[in-house]
Amino acid sequence: MEEYPRTVLEMADWFPNEEACRDYLVRLRWPEGFVCPRCGHAGGWAATRGRMICSGCRHQASATAGTIFQDTHKPLRMWFWAVWQITSQKSGASAASLQAVLGLGSYSTAWTWLHKLRRAMVRPGRDRLRGRVEVDETLVGGEDPGSRGRRLGRKSLVIIAAEEDGEGIGRIRLRRIPDAKRPRLHGFLREAVEPGSVVHTDGFAAYRGLEALGCRHEATVLLGQDKDAACRFLPRVHRVAALLKRWLLGTHQGAVSAEHLDYYLDEFTFRFNRRMSASRGKLFYRLLQQAVQVDPAPYHQIVGGKPFPAANHNR
Ligand SMILES: [Zn+2]
Repeated sequence: MEEYPRTVLEMADWFPNEEACRDYLVRLRWPEGFVCPRCGHAGGWAATRGRMICSGCRHQASATAGTIFQDTHKPLRMWFWAVWQITSQKSGASAASLQAVLGLGSYSTAWTWLHKLRRAMVRPGRDRLRGRVEVDETLVGGEDPGSRGRRLGRKSLVIIAAEEDGEGIGRIRLRRIPDAKRPRLHGFLREAVEPGSVVHTDGFAAYRGLEALGCRHEATVLLGQDKDAACRFLPRVHRVAALLKRWLLGTHQGAVSAEHLDYYLDEFTFRFNRRMSASRGKLFYRLLQQAVQVDPAPYHQIVGGKPFPAANHNR
């Protein structure tokens, strides 16, 4: 099933009521048919309110249990329109615009919805980058018109990995890191890049030893070169950094605090990696699909024989 509305009229036709929304979520959550989350039995029947009843143990499973929609008091229809609003616009939506369009009573509800949806945008450890990958760090944020001159301490360090795709950029991964020490950099790259890839960095010492992750490491030493050298040798990560900063300042007017930056990075990554998508409707589909996808073992994913360190998770 890769069915999604392509226009605003199709959107209205497809989801006229709660039942239509629930049916859609049931199909997204169990695309191969219902599998009981309690006993693992395959097969069951649909009950009211989007629930499925296991034909093995009679457990009642809901398509929204364990997802961001679980305890919502608002209609699913409203959530669907929020997802449409976010995915149908190239740069996304701010909390203020979402509140206005949906007629939500409070700004904080719109803000919370956006953050819940952002959590569904990037799945750590999945879809790792491969091939030749540029990596560098950049400083982000701290722009606050009210307090110029005291901004440096409020900036966040973000590490960027960008696949080379000919002269262009393939997929990207981003993460805020508290420092640029080796465990942070290597921890990020272990989750973001497939073994066997070629990782291209500058000569920063903390990147040494990437061979331990199964990657080939190419370091371009920039010492003694002018400061534009990094842009020439690692043009893709610098292009991504510039786009990220422009997006934070444009769509969100720079109103992004350091502690929430992770979520914005997830949204930026989600959009960037799907920027060539033929249809915006496909992003709507993909975001809802990820929103109801329940990871069977989120903290036990094994990569290279080692579990991910929890502290290195994107969220
Ligand atoms: Zn069961």
